[in-house]
Amino acid sequence: MNITDIQNIFTEAEEKISQASDSNELDEIKHFYLGRKGKMAQVIKQIPELPEEKRPLAGKESNIIKGKIQSLLSDRTQQLKTGQEKTQKIDTSLPAVKRTLGGRHPITIVIDDICKIFEHIGFTLVEGPEIETDYYNFKALNIPEGHPARDNFATFYLPKDNMLLRSQTSPVQIRIMKDVEPPLRILSPGKVFRPDNLDASHSFMFHQIEGLVVDKKTNFTHLKASLSYFVKNFFGRDVTMRFRPHYFPFTEPSAEVDIACIICGGEGCSVCSRTGWLEILGAGMVHPNVLKEVGIEESIFQGYAFGLGIERIAMLKYGITDIRMFFNNDMRFLKQFS
Ligand SMILES: [Zn+2]
Repeated sequence: MNITDIQNIFTEAEEKISQASDSNELDEIKHFYLGRKGKMAQVIKQIPELPEEKRPLAGKESNIIKGKIQSLLSDRTQQLKTGQEKTQKIDTSLPAVKRTLGGRHPITIVIDDICKIFEHIGFTLVEGPEIETDYYNFKALNIPEGHPARDNFATFYLPKDNMLLRSQTSPVQIRIMKDVEPPLRILSPGKVFRPDNLDASHSFMFHQIEGLVVDKKTNFTHLKASLSYFVKNFFGRDVTMRFRPHYFPFTEPSAEVDIACIICGGEGCSVCSRTGWLEILGAGMVHPNVLKEVGIEESIFQGYAFGLGIERIAMLKYGITDIRMFFNNDMRFLKQFS
């Protein structure tokens, strides 16, 4: 007997273990090699008969091989066990597990609907950061120092580096105009933040969609046509629209846009405060100061912009009377829309 014989026993055992297909077979292999009268026991028994200088190495090698066989046996046992579990788990005759899919949130539905309408007339979707700087949220939009919109009561300021939570989606306009050469035709939906107390019609977080067009020979008629296309496609063919002169720092001239009350049809009800009209958005021609700030030549290019509040539109469309319902995550409410 020599070292090669011991190693051959291991090679032989290794092959048998890898081919074993159940635990009974493994038990037999264990008994055959590692049992009290097993092959390894016989090898160890013969060690004293070896020449003295070969005994320590033979003893050491036998112990190593015993250990290796033992660990191969446990690995194979584990392998067979996992294999069995896997086969037990897959039963193709069982009825399929029904997976419940979540539905879209009403705010997402309204955003998607609005975007689809504007995409039809060439608008492209863009997004911008919710954490902004004073420059993008105010200064570049022609909102001067000291303007009430900059007040702590109207904007969430962050403690560092003049950063804030955007109070409107308009900063995206500035970012795009600075990066992309006109002509531009963009639409930017997203969250905005204002420190309003939570009540039926106010929330400190809500959603807006901002639209911006910059091109040569763009005028107020184009703005009116785009918004009219939107109103007719979103609220219905027969819904009338009106523009009221208004003031925004970043547009000139500016207007607020109303639609005839979709609840009472213009007769006057509590939703429209008996006026027959519902305000839905603000719009106007981009102020020359804004174009100048972003480096667009205002003698060649003009633009128009509009912004609308998604929650307000969704409330009107679905007849929802409390803005908090959008954010309470009450499944009974949310399920109605999916
Ligand atoms: Zn009404």
